[in-house]
Amino acid sequence: MNQSERCKERYSKLKNLGLCVKCKQPSDLTLCQVCRDKKNARRKQRVNNGLCEWCGSIVGNKITKSGKHAGCNRTICDKCVLKQRASYYKLKPSDLIKLFEKQNYTCSYSGEKLTIENAELDHVIPKSKSGTNTIDNLQWTANWVNQMKKDFSEIEFLEKIEKILNYRRNYA
Ligand SMILES: [Zn+2]
Ligand SMILES: [Zn+2]
Repeated sequence: MNQSERCKERYSKLKNLGLCVKCKQPSDLTLCQVCRDKKNARRKQRVNNGLCEWCGSIVGNKITKSGKHAGCNRTICDKCVLKQRASYYKLKPSDLIKLFEKQNYTCSYSGEKLTIENAELDHVIPKSKSGTNTIDNLQWTANWVNQMKKDFSEIEFLEKIEKILNYRRNYA
């Protein structure tokens, strides 16, 4: 069992006992109100100081009026963004980094250079066509490409683009 699994196990034990996972006081919630408030205050403090809301490391030096970091419009560091995305797909952050490396930090469709800022994860076989969240069904693409591709399979997507290009070249 690794550290995060041990942590999860300890949390679920405390939760089942009806105790706050942080201060071990009786609580209906995983985190009692006192610990929740403390956590939120700590996060707010970090954002105000230009630090990652989650881990406290440096995100960027400038913060916009909205409290979001200038240029990236987010309050968590690159590492935590990867962590967040990986947990959404039930993968490890290192899986997503490996995928970046495998693609040479390049969008599979447009050839655009990718950063954590402009990259999105695309399902090779769309979820609507029973594609899975496994790493071999995921690829990094430029965000705009992923938004255009939506639920299309690769073939469908390329056909749609071809259709548009054909029409615009010949008739428009
Ligand atoms: Zn507590
Ligand atoms: Zn962080």
